Amino acid sequence: MSGHDVDLFVIGAGSGGVRAARVAAGYGARVMIAEEYRVGGTCVIRGCVPKKLLVYASRFSDEFEDAAGYGWSVPEPTFHWPALIANKDREIARLETAYTNTLERFDVTLVKSRAALEDAHTVRMATGAHVRAETILISTGAWPHLGPKIPGLEHAISSNEAFHLPELPRRIVIQGGGYIAVEFACIFAGLGSKVALIYRGENILRGFDDDVREHLRNEMRARGITVACGHTVVAIAKLGDEFIARLSDNSAVTADKVMFAIGRRPNVTGLGIEGLNIEIHEHAGIKVDEYSRTSVPNIYAVGDVTNRVNLTPVAIREGHAFADTVYGGKPTPVDHSNVPTAVFSEPEVGVIGLTETQARERLAKVDVYKTTFRPMKATLSGRNTRTFMKLLVDGATDRVVGCHIVGPDASELIQAVGIAVKMGATKADFDATMAVHPTAGEELVTMREKAVSYGRAAAK
Ligand SMILES: Cc1cc2nc3c(=O)[nH]c(=O)nc-3n(C[C@H](O)[C@H](O)[C@H](O)COP(=O)(O)OP(=O)(O)OC[C@H]3O[C@@H](n4cnc5c(N)ncnc54)[C@H](O)[C@@H]3O)c2cc1C
Repeated sequence: MSGHDVDLFVIGAGSGGVRAARVAAGYGARVMIAEEYRVGGTCVIRGCVPKKLLVYASRFSDEFEDAAGYGWSVPEPTFHWPALIANKDREIARLETAYTNTLERFDVTLVKSRAALEDAHTVRMATGAHVRAETILISTGAWPHLGPKIPGLEHAISSNEAFHLPELPRRIVIQGGGYIAVEFACIFAGLGSKVALIYRGENILRGFDDDVREHLRNEMRARGITVACGHTVVAIAKLGDEFIARLSDNSAVTADKVMFAIGRRPNVTGLGIEGLNIEIHEHAGIKVDEYSRTSVPNIYAVGDVTNRVNLTPVAIREGHAFADTVYGGKPTPVDHSNVPTAVFSEPEVGVIGLTETQARERLAKVDVYKTTFRPMKATLSGRNTRTFMKLLVDGATDRVVGCHIVGPDASELIQAVGIAVKMGATKADFDATMAVHPTAGEELVTMREKAVSYGRAAAK
């Protein structure tokens, strides 16, 4: 086509890139995709999937303990980290093959190489080879950011390495308060490590509802995790096999591993975008319009590299919408509002919509419904845990504008509740829905008493 080797060149075979490549190819485009590491990207190789497998592994310790209250006697369980990692790696390899096969099936040409832009229509491989493309999609994802250079930073691992440790650390310091830090803290604690979570902010999970943050922090502490907010790691020293993390208050924590999970940065370095006037926005991601088009008309970008909503389903949706728009004749903007999301902590968090703070800022009248209760399973197990649920309702329209859950299966619950919230369900719709009994979820349709109601004046 007009002197181009391919219609579409995709840089990065992760969640967004693979979906875009396969859908574009399905529409008849000639597609080439470059991947510098492993097909599947962060989610499959060192993100959501391996993490969830580790989460499952970490939860057995509670199950073994809880079984006693239900009449089971379980012999002293033992855990073998190398077995878990080997099994996890086998599953990841299977998924990588499945992703590669999909690309082959759709006649997408896979190049196992780093790629960069030479000009607006030319992509350069690591070998020096060039490919001319009519359209280019950047889907290079993001990379762990370890923060300012502190003494001993070279000793810190990121989530990338956490998936491949040769042995389970007996003690681990994790710096960070976002969902990845919190999830790994719970994973390691569940597997038996002594965990210290160090976070510079006033509470974990910045951006989440304040009640959720407080509830989860208390639950984590009840599980024996040290959650130290208002602190940072200022230096790491290696002493034999141990590491000493020095904190900003001059205290120190000794551990077998120090992990930093303080954020991720879009992968834009060395991509060649500087010379092309591709705009970067203030959050360091590539600036795109609602169709994921950059400031250069034939170059698009999807997923974490655009730093919009950094989640796999969002990257996939953006990749799909790009292909529908450019090759399917169906211009498709992506709606980034009301994205349900989960934290696979212990217990889990599931949320959709506005936090209480946001609702009070944006709406004239907000009704808040909340409840906390002991999950039924904990009655016989004796486990010291409570579930938390909260609904935020627009007092003017009765629409449920936020739902926040901390408790078992919160991720599964929020996926279903998310449909109702996305459809604009009202509190009356929730109330009219018959409860499923006995479940935790029934609380969502039986919350009748307002915990508090705010009018605009009260919000000031
Ligand atoms: C530990 C962890 C846990 C997570 N858990 C969840 C979760 O539970 N749920 C959820 O929704 N999201 C989760 N995420 C986020 C999710 O993984 C990302 O949002 C998603 O993978 C983004 O997809 P993407 O296509 O933008 O980028 P990626 O999947 O990161 O793919 C980018 C690909 O591009 C390749 N690449 C980069 N530069 C180049 C180049 N120059 N040339 C060639 N190839 C290149 C990379 O090697 C990579 O394979 C998690 C992330 C992490 C790190």
